[in-house]
Amino acid sequence: MWIEYCCPQCHATCRQDSIESTDILTCQKCKLIVRIAPQSIGNDRLTRCLVCPSAELFVRKNFPQKLGVWIVTAGLAGSCVAWAWHELIATFAILFATALVDVVLYMVVPNCLACYRCQARYGGVESHGTFTGFNLETHERHRQFLARSESLAGSKKL
Ligand SMILES: [Zn+2]
Ligand SMILES: [Zn+2]
Repeated sequence: MWIEYCCPQCHATCRQDSIESTDILTCQKCKLIVRIAPQSIGNDRLTRCLVCPSAELFVRKNFPQKLGVWIVTAGLAGSCVAWAWHELIATFAILFATALVDVVLYMVVPNCLACYRCQARYGGVESHGTFTGFNLETHERHRQFLARSESLAGSKKL
């Protein structure tokens, strides 16, 4: 199992493999150590986020969002060019190919678990346990919690 998380101290993106066989996560940049609470990982199953106190994770595709946007943009741009040149068949062929690439990638790319609160991602997870797909309500709850704690931290400084 691997994790990709944002370091709570220096905000660098850290990746660590075989997290089931260790009890600490170490930031490659600032060397901050995050202790993994016991029973967070059992039988190749994750029960909670290892980086933040949240126990709510969702299943998503381990797919770089930028790549997805890039494919769609390239497909749209290509079909617009073909449309401008009155190449009707090419226009639809490009749109169809773009959709096909998306579908194939969706089937090939494995799932991973992501934390609602800190956006940490976990891959190579055997079982997703009780976690399901993205839920907007849960996401909104965590977003509001973050906004509240940020404004609290801000008012403390004043
Ligand atoms: Zn760090
Ligand atoms: Zn988290």
